[in-house]
Amino acid sequence: MKRDKRRTFAATTVLIAPFVILLAALAAAGPSLREWGQKRQHGGEPQSIDINLYTFWTDRDLGDCAIFGFKLDRFERELVTRTKDLFGLSVRSVPIRIHLYHNHDELERFLKRTTSWKGDFTHNGGYYNPAGSEIAIEMTGDEREDISGLFHEVTHALFNLSAERARWSPWVAEGVATWLARSEIGPEGAVRLGGIDHRFLAINREGPLPLREFLEADHSQFTTAQNRYYYAQAHLLFAFLVERHRDRLAAYLKSEMSGVKVGPATFESTFGPIPDIEKEFADFVKSLN
Ligand SMILES: [Zn+2]
Repeated sequence: MKRDKRRTFAATTVLIAPFVILLAALAAAGPSLREWGQKRQHGGEPQSIDINLYTFWTDRDLGDCAIFGFKLDRFERELVTRTKDLFGLSVRSVPIRIHLYHNHDELERFLKRTTSWKGDFTHNGGYYNPAGSEIAIEMTGDEREDISGLFHEVTHALFNLSAERARWSPWVAEGVATWLARSEIGPEGAVRLGGIDHRFLAINREGPLPLREFLEADHSQFTTAQNRYYYAQAHLLFAFLVERHRDRLAAYLKSEMSGVKVGPATFESTFGPIPDIEKEFADFVKSLN
């Protein structure tokens, strides 16, 4: 009996031992396996840095990330407190991950790995993935442009996190993001929210789009080779509405936030007949030239 028991004990030990050894090896390798997974996802030699609920994944100088993090934090705080009447954004508790890439290939490789994106992404330089509150962006090396790109994508993130049920029309989503992308942070941290991007004026002059059709444009029109005309018009239309019809714009945004798909009819009932608003919009654009 004794011998049998011993044998059983020995057999169990032998059987269990390899698993125990394997678990111990996995536990020891845990941090480096995690790191390997994160490096693989980032596609480079990244380091991460957390700044006020922003986590940057990058192989850039972490000092640059500290500046980006400081500016994004200033931007977000001012945006939430100063546009309560217009956007009604909530204070965020969910962290936003930001991947900074050196070129377009790295950005596209990331999208293929982490999203089900199948379309053309040649003509876009940044991406916000609501599934993981994750931003991926191609850096240009020009600090002004890079922070502008980050304001753009962070705007998408903040709007999505604030109103998850909202069904934003692409022109609203891109209009507000391109408008807020021109925000400025002064050396003392003073924030100017929004602004006109004059490059869009030249593009819009080349190809203004009929307003009614434009209001119904879908996301694919913002990713094709012709997407600059859609971005330019979304930008200028949003700037026009925020400068000339702020209260009505606030009401219109509330209807988009309700979760019901709205279209030109809601636009018209909020701002008036489309031909009239189209004429007023054209005059506004002319006044900027
Ligand atoms: Zn966008």
